[in-house]
Amino acid sequence: MEQRKINRLLVANRGEIAIRIFRAANELGIRTVAIYSEQDNVASHRFKADESYLVGAGKGPIEAYLDIESIIEIAKRNDIDAIHPGYGFLAENAEFARRCREENILFVGPSSELIEKFGDKVEARKLAMQAGIPIIPGTERPIETLQEALLFANEFGYPIIIKGVSGGGGRGMRIVRSQDELQEAIDRARSEARSSFGSAAVYLERYLEKPKHIEVQIIGDEVGNIVHLYERDCSIQRRHQKVVEVAPSVGVSDKLRDAICQAALTLMKTAGYTNAGTVEFLLTPDNNFYFIEVNPRIQVEHTITELITGIDIVQTQIRVAEGHSLHSPVIGIPAQAQIKHTGYAIQCRVTTEDPENGFVPDTGRLLAYRSGGGFGVRLDSGNGYAGATITPFYDSLLVKISTYATTFDQTARKMLRTLREFRIRGVKTNLPFLENVVTHTDFLSGQYDTSFIDTKPELFR
Ligand code: ADP
Repeated sequence: MEQRKINRLLVANRGEIAIRIFRAANELGIRTVAIYSEQDNVASHRFKADESYLVGAGKGPIEAYLDIESIIEIAKRNDIDAIHPGYGFLAENAEFARRCREENILFVGPSSELIEKFGDKVEARKLAMQAGIPIIPGTERPIETLQEALLFANEFGYPIIIKGVSGGGGRGMRIVRSQDELQEAIDRARSEARSSFGSAAVYLERYLEKPKHIEVQIIGDEVGNIVHLYERDCSIQRRHQKVVEVAPSVGVSDKLRDAICQAALTLMKTAGYTNAGTVEFLLTPDNNFYFIEVNPRIQVEHTITELITGIDIVQTQIRVAEGHSLHSPVIGIPAQAQIKHTGYAIQCRVTTEDPENGFVPDTGRLLAYRSGGGFGVRLDSGNGYAGATITPFYDSLLVKISTYATTFDQTARKMLRTLREFRIRGVKTNLPFLENVVTHTDFLSGQYDTSFIDTKPELFR
C-alpha cells in the first residue's frame, strides 16, 4: 500500500476526545483543525486546535456534529487530508467513512464495510461464530413477533436480555425474567431502539448473571499486521455504562487472559480488521467467556491500555491511516510476543452527575475547578476549568482520571488521593461516589462483576 502523509487533520468531535486527538497529532507535526457547534462557541476543544470552524449553523447541538455534508465541505474547503471521528457522533457511521473515502480524505478508523459489519450486532455474532469464538445463546436474527421470543425462551429459558441490533451506550437493553414481562419489554426495547438508533430491530440473548466485562484492545495496519494490546476490565458499570475501568484485569489468570486475547485477535484477523478496535466479552463466574460485540473505534477507556503498554493508540491510528506498518520505525510496535504490559492502570470517569439524586446531570458554571495531579496521574478533560459552563446539550463527562503504578493496590491508592485532591464547585459531580468505589473491599480484591454498583447501596453514601 502506498503511504500518504497527513498534514492537516480534522477531528469530527468535541470535548476531551477531540483534545486527546489534537495532542497526538500535534506531537506528530500535524496541523489540527476543530469543528464546533454554535452551542460550543467557547468550548475548549476549539481553542486547543490550530484552526476551528463552525459546523451546522442553525442546527441543534448534537445535529451539528452529525452533519456529514457540512463536515465534508469544511474539510474540502480547508485542504484536510484526514478526519478522525473520535467516539460517539459519527464514529460508527459507515456512511461518513464512505463519504470521506469518496472525497479522497483519509478516515482514521476502519473501512465503512467493517463499520457496517460490526454495527449490526446480529451480523457480528455470526462473524464470531464463523471464527470459532464462543457467543451467548441468542436469536439468529432480529425478532418480529412475541411468538419468536417465546420460542427462544422455551428453548433457552430465562432470564433473557433484549438488545438493539444497532445498539450502543447501554441503551435500549431490557432484562426479562419471566414470560409475563416479555411483550411489554419487547415493545419498550423497540421504541427505545428506534428513538436512540433509528432502527427498532431488536434480538434476544440469554442474560448472564454476574459476569465480568472484559474487552481486548486490537490494532491492525493496512499491510496485514494486527496485534492485541491486552485487555481491560470494565465491569464497574451503571445502567450498562462503564464508570471505572482497570487494566490489566485483576483476578483473571494469565492463562485465561491469554485465551481471551487470542480469541479477540482471531476474530479481528478473520474480519480483516484495520485500525483500532475493541472486542468485548462477558466472563462468567465459572471462567467461560463469550463474545458480545466489537466497537470499531477508539474507546473512552483507551488511556489505561496506553499506560500499561506505553503505546500511544491514537498516534498509532493516525500512522496506520497513513499506510505505515505497525512494525515500521515510525510506529515501532514490536511483534506480538514482545508486546508487554507492566503495572496497573485505573480510569475513573468524573461526570457532572449528582449521585445523591439518581445521577441526574447537573449543569451550570464551574465556580471552582482544581484538579489532582502528580506522579502516575493522567488527566483527559474537555471543559474542566473554573468559569466553564456545563451545558445540558452533551454527555456529562467532565474529566477522565487515569492513574498508573506497579501494583493494583498502589494504583487504587493513587486514584483515591487524586480524587480527593479535586475541588469542583458550582456543579455537582460523582467524585464522592468514585471515592467509595475505589476504596471498596470487593473492588480492591478484584472480586467484582457487572452487578457491583447495583448491589452496593453503601457506594451512594
Ligand atoms: P452497548 O453496545 O449498548 O454498550 P453491549 O452489548 O456492549 O451494549 O453491553 C453492555 C453491557 O450490558 C455489558 O457490559 C453487560 O454489562 C451488559 N450485557 C450485555 N449483554 C449481556 C448479556 N447477554 N448478559 C448479561 N449482561 C449483558
